[in-house]
Amino acid sequence: MSRRDPATILAAACTDGDPAYAGVAPPLWTSDSYAWPDADAKPAYDYARTVNPNRDMLVALLAELEGAAGGAVTASGQAAALLALLLVPGEARVVAPHDCYGGTYRLLCGLQEQGRLRADFVDMTDLTAVEAALAEPTALVWIETPSNPLLRVTDIAAVARLARAAGALSIADNTLPTPLRQRPLEHGCDLVMHSTTKAINGHGDCFGGALLATDTALVERIQWWANAAGLNAAPWSAWQTLKGARTMALRVDRQEASARVIAAWLAGQANVSAVHYPGLAEHPDHALAAHQQDGPGFMISFEIAGGETTTAGFLERLKLITLASSLGGISSLICQPATMTHRGMPPEAQAAAGLGPNLLRISVGLEAAGDLIADLEQGFNSPP
Ligand SMILES: *Cc1c(COP(=O)(O)O)cnc(C)c1O
Repeated sequence: MSRRDPATILAAACTDGDPAYAGVAPPLWTSDSYAWPDADAKPAYDYARTVNPNRDMLVALLAELEGAAGGAVTASGQAAALLALLLVPGEARVVAPHDCYGGTYRLLCGLQEQGRLRADFVDMTDLTAVEAALAEPTALVWIETPSNPLLRVTDIAAVARLARAAGALSIADNTLPTPLRQRPLEHGCDLVMHSTTKAINGHGDCFGGALLATDTALVERIQWWANAAGLNAAPWSAWQTLKGARTMALRVDRQEASARVIAAWLAGQANVSAVHYPGLAEHPDHALAAHQQDGPGFMISFEIAGGETTTAGFLERLKLITLASSLGGISSLICQPATMTHRGMPPEAQAAAGLGPNLLRISVGLEAAGDLIADLEQGFNSPP
């Protein structure tokens, strides 16, 4: 069957999900265990850590969006990252972006300190550096594009090809673009992960993650480890996330449309020394983003001209946009990555990744773009 439009996949998800009463919204199955017809006949659903209908529904939805065969939905995005790392042998080497999500950096370094793996961080936008890093035996190559917070774009197909040639698996953290704007498996990645806490749930009220693959043997290993390590999502989280996801196409379209307007406006401000948004023609990876993504997305980062007190004053004056660290939700949030999302990164690593104290990141929500710009404008205008 030809690929269905993502808006249709989302809106039509699980309208036939109630086998008992044919309700058009899926029920929530909270039971921890299920009755066996007899002791030799293991039912399809037996114990909820292992298998649960609400998780299955969410996995099926995300797998269709990503073009995956299946996978697992987990307690958080970080649980999905850990699950991916359980797929590689002990003491294996992982090559990751030097500007990856702060939590990923913390997890890789923590496991490295325990001697469980070796992590090497490279600039993934530099294919020569990636190739050089892969000269040593590597088990997994971690891709995160657009990167968080600088929105640098990695060539997924090129890095996945280099990884495969080196005998390594490749994974893409697809949280920022969402499957609506980027499908890494189609570009040759073996694995794709999400923090569903962000745009997929979209309402800022539920934690979750997902790890998906195209290869069925890999899907089986994901499910084996998710069960063995107890990383699967709670039924309620899967149910709530599916409910949030059903409006994602509408939300992401609106958030992205506003982000385009806001990024262009920021680029014209005297108080802004740099704007990082792949939708701007000046962005160094604009052409690659246009080729690889179906849109530039709803995340913008920018740098305030002046010192740290100017940035602190700007943040204090904002009224509509909330200072908070999440992203992808209905309400616009702003954060200072150096002190918030990326505080797990030591100052040297922050400097290497280009995360200065005047760098701010906005997750554009569903408010009217004009109201968001008015808020930013009054943030720049210090009172007389
Ligand atoms: C939030 C986030 C994560 C971690 O997800 P949690 O749900 O907070 O555990 C991983 N990667 C990216 C890009 C994120 O934004």
